[in-house]
Amino acid sequence: MSPSSQIKIKSKQPNLQKSIFSVMSALAISEKAINLSQGFPDFPCHPKLVELLHKYAKAGHNQYAPMPGIPVLRERIAEKVEDLYGAKYNPETEITITAGATEALYAAITTIVHPGDEVIVFEPWYDAYIPTIEYSGGRVITIPLELPDFHIDWAKVNKAVSAKTKAIILNSPHNPTGAILSAEDIEQLVAIVKNSSIMLISDEVYEHIIFDGQAHQSLAKYKELAERSFVIGSFGKTFHATGWKVGYCLAPRELMAEFQKIHQFITFSVNTPAQYAYAAFLLEKDYYLELAGFYQKKRDLFLKLMDTSRFEPLACTGTYFQLMGYKNISEENDLEFTRRLTVEHKIASIPTSVFYKAGIDNKIVRFCFAKKDETLEQAAELLCRI
Ligand code: PMP
Ligand code: GLN
Repeated sequence: MSPSSQIKIKSKQPNLQKSIFSVMSALAISEKAINLSQGFPDFPCHPKLVELLHKYAKAGHNQYAPMPGIPVLRERIAEKVEDLYGAKYNPETEITITAGATEALYAAITTIVHPGDEVIVFEPWYDAYIPTIEYSGGRVITIPLELPDFHIDWAKVNKAVSAKTKAIILNSPHNPTGAILSAEDIEQLVAIVKNSSIMLISDEVYEHIIFDGQAHQSLAKYKELAERSFVIGSFGKTFHATGWKVGYCLAPRELMAEFQKIHQFITFSVNTPAQYAYAAFLLEKDYYLELAGFYQKKRDLFLKLMDTSRFEPLACTGTYFQLMGYKNISEENDLEFTRRLTVEHKIASIPTSVFYKAGIDNKIVRFCFAKKDETLEQAAELLCRI
């Protein structure tokens, strides 16, 4: 159907393209390629989680949940965050269950960004941040992470901070690079925001996917940061259930009250039986505490399988993404290369230049290793032939 000739749509995002994750997953399907692009597991979530969903739906928990989320889930999150990070969030006033981390990011950014405000974002970025800042009339100030390990140059952050800086968005473990914030990074961050009104949005969806004995530096752990932060998590990553779209946000009471004004008219509330299922499953602490080991084995398997390939792996300390350089293979830009890799070699990956304002092409692509071992074996076999 075509719109009526009287209808003129004025795009709010005239330059915004379809998300690269949708584009590459669709290409993987149409090309019958192995999909190592969009980040999601190709193995099932725990059967007990599915049973719990069934149990709570059967028991009749099928009507609206309270706007901030069911109390028992908020309590379990509060307990978990206190156990792991020593932070006390009041489950009644400082925790909201959201439709994935995506909604939490949208609500947090919308809550605080006014027209003309500057928001500092590191690039490469996770793709949801920029459009949301721009919707609110905010100005994005980008700071490139430093290759080869994608660390933050804090002197650059210091220089970028101005009287207009409303917030800094952090993401650790970091998608797409696999880099993490260290204790020294936290010290630098504390020094920068001290005596300022800068707020922090901390995207911690991969908090349990961190390798080589490293500890996750949640901003919740540091009172002087937590008191100005929205800390965002997602059960999709932790429990292999990205399609359930349940996440959450933690923030001090006054910030959370404003956040909920936005949340209540995006979704009002989130899928009720899934919230009950997660509340019950969170009691099985081993499941999330062992996740790092589970994914570290997958990372190591993928790296071993790729040992004889011409791709060059970069360091990966967290997330389920492995970056690889391909300059030994091709001079194509990463958009052309990932397209050809999918069409000709039947492996879908993600180009990283799309996560830079200036489209910087470092000839690096991202592979998702949240896959069955057989999938990784098949993929590596094809990749090693290139
Ligand atoms: N932040 C990052 C860094 C992500 O990688 C993702 C999704 N994979 C999200 C947020 C969104 O999470 P969700 O699927 O829970 O909306
Ligand atoms: N976060 C996932 C990734 O990085 C994608 C999520 C999405 O498609 N929105 O691949």
